[in-house]
Amino acid sequence: MQSKLSHIKHWVFDLDHTLYSPKIRLFDQIEVLMNTYLKKTLNVTQEKAVYLRKYYWEEYGTTLAGLMAEQHVDPKYYLEFVHNINLDNLEENSDLAAHINSLPGDKIIFTNGSRMHAVNVSKALGLYECFSEFYGTEDAMLIPKPQKKAFDTIFELSKINPKQAIMFEDDPRNLVEPFKMGMKTALIGDFLQTEYIHFNAPDLNTFFANELNG
Ligand SMILES: [Mg+2]
Repeated sequence: MQSKLSHIKHWVFDLDHTLYSPKIRLFDQIEVLMNTYLKKTLNVTQEKAVYLRKYYWEEYGTTLAGLMAEQHVDPKYYLEFVHNINLDNLEENSDLAAHINSLPGDKIIFTNGSRMHAVNVSKALGLYECFSEFYGTEDAMLIPKPQKKAFDTIFELSKINPKQAIMFEDDPRNLVEPFKMGMKTALIGDFLQTEYIHFNAPDLNTFFANELNG
C-alpha cells in the first residue's frame, strides 16, 4: 500500500451513493417514500412535501433531523417507513468486496439512513461480510452527519482514532468535520478540489485500484 494510506487502521464508509452508484437510482425510492410520509404526517401537498424534504436536508443534514427539530415525529416509524424499498437493482460488487477485504484494520459503515438499511444494502451488494460494524443515524442519537456530534458519537462507539482513519463519502459536507478531526478524506463521485478533501475518485473501485496498487 502507498505510504499516504499506510497509517490507516479504520476505514469508514458512507452507504448510499458511496458503496453503489447514484445511477442505480435506489435513493429515488426513498425520496418517494419520504414525500409520502411528509404528505400523510404533516397533511401537506406533494409540492410542499418536496420543498420541505429539500429544506430539511439543506438546513439540518437529513429530512429526519428537520422533522425532529420542527415537528414531533416517531423516528423509529419514519426510518422503517422510508427504507422499505426494493433492492433488486443492486448487483453484487465482488471487485469491491476483494478490495475492502484486502484492507488492514476495521471496516465500518456509518450512514444517515437506518442501521437496517445499511445491513440490507450491503447484503444486496455482496459486501455484508466485509464490515465489522454498521452504524445508522439511530446509533448517533439521530444527530446526522455533517454535525460534529454525529461523528464524535460513532467514533467513540467504534473506538476509532481519527488520526488513523479515512472517511469515504459522496456528500462533501460530510468530510469537513472528519478533516478537522485529523482523518484522511475521500470524496466518491463528484470531483471537488478543496482543502478538506484529500482524495477524489469517481467510484470506490477506481479509488482502490489507484491508491492500493500505485
Ligand atoms: Mg451518501
